Amino acid sequence: MNEYDSELVAGLLENEDYTRTEKSDEAELILLNTCSVREHAEEKVHARLGNLKVFKDRNPDVKIGLLGCMAQNLKEDLLKTKPYVDIILGPDSYRRLPQLVSEPIKSTDNIVDTKLSRMEVYDDLFPARREGINAWISIMRGCDKFCTFCIVPFTRGRERSRSIESIVQEVEQIRDDGFMEVTLLGQNVNSFHHDGRRFNELLEAVSSIEGIQRIRYTSPHPQDFDDELIAVHTNNPKICNHIHFPLQAGSDPVLERMNRTYTKQHFLDLATKMRDKIPGLSLSTDMIVGFPGETEADFQETLDVMQQVKFDTAFTFKYSSRPGTKAAEYEDTVPEADKQDRLQRMIELQREHTLFRNREHIGEITEVLVEKDSKKSEKQHQGRTRSNKIVIFDKAGEKPGDLVKVVIIDAQGITLFGRIVD
Ligand code: SF4
Repeated sequence: MNEYDSELVAGLLENEDYTRTEKSDEAELILLNTCSVREHAEEKVHARLGNLKVFKDRNPDVKIGLLGCMAQNLKEDLLKTKPYVDIILGPDSYRRLPQLVSEPIKSTDNIVDTKLSRMEVYDDLFPARREGINAWISIMRGCDKFCTFCIVPFTRGRERSRSIESIVQEVEQIRDDGFMEVTLLGQNVNSFHHDGRRFNELLEAVSSIEGIQRIRYTSPHPQDFDDELIAVHTNNPKICNHIHFPLQAGSDPVLERMNRTYTKQHFLDLATKMRDKIPGLSLSTDMIVGFPGETEADFQETLDVMQQVKFDTAFTFKYSSRPGTKAAEYEDTVPEADKQDRLQRMIELQREHTLFRNREHIGEITEVLVEKDSKKSEKQHQGRTRSNKIVIFDKAGEKPGDLVKVVIIDAQGITLFGRIVD
């Protein structure tokens, strides 16, 4: 989402004849787009802002701006500790940026706008994308779910969606620009609703656009996943057979304290149904260990879901309290050593499952979209299957954006290895 927002901001500035530079010491304007979801992300931004002060010291005319969730969440703190930051804009205030950067800024002024909007979806603005294979398109903003550990509803505001027409128009544009794949984005992507039209209809509308080869979306919420959405997958082959399906925890009492609004059994039933109905489906997930009050027995429930579903991949996190959330008021009862131990056990189990799932593909012939050179050898390509698996294979004259047939010959960790077949 932040990558998309950065492209949106770049588009706004390019419309005003600003040009990009990759070198901080050449820039007259430096913007950091920030995330507050985890403490670690915030710490990195504080460190980066510390480094950027050097440019301001060298040239006081350089403007430094902070955008996104941290601007929304930590403006008071930033004004005190980083007074050299000129502009602080929350995620709903980007339209003001061109006007703000064109005004002279006195060293004592900070411009702060973190008002949240119930309407802003940047419907009429198209981002400045670089060439590539996959284009991100934001279809809705904000979140109404209020999971107790999450800061997003406070930093990004209430849920609101773009019109299907404007999304279709943007997909047609990225197709004309040469992109092969689109990823529809939303904090809660399957809660999309606009004028009584829901996510299923949007997916069908995007599927009917000629020239787009692959459609992905992230992240859905299990509560809003239903049989109809599974049927849309089954009936529209352009929609990729990979679903990111965030579990967070497997114990019902923990899920309840997280306000996730589903039970372990509901999640398991949905995962089984998806795997039954969508051929070759890969499932990824997010999981948190050490949520306040999580006992060893609760943790075992999460491992049990993992054993039953055998996710293809997982993003695993130790719980970190985010000030301002409901869970920050809970007593953090899980000692750090236990959190670390549980995380380690979870990672080890996930490694086994990833290998298990990937080994299932050995011998299969599958369609791979060529993305770039492999990291290890310029004689090899890196590509991606529809099910979102990375495949490495020897080059034979293809270029990024080509679709090729590859037979899978090996699997190591999260990577598949293959050979082109005719
Ligand atoms: S669904 Fe929950 S975790 Fe996801 S953005 Fe909304 S509040 Fe945060």
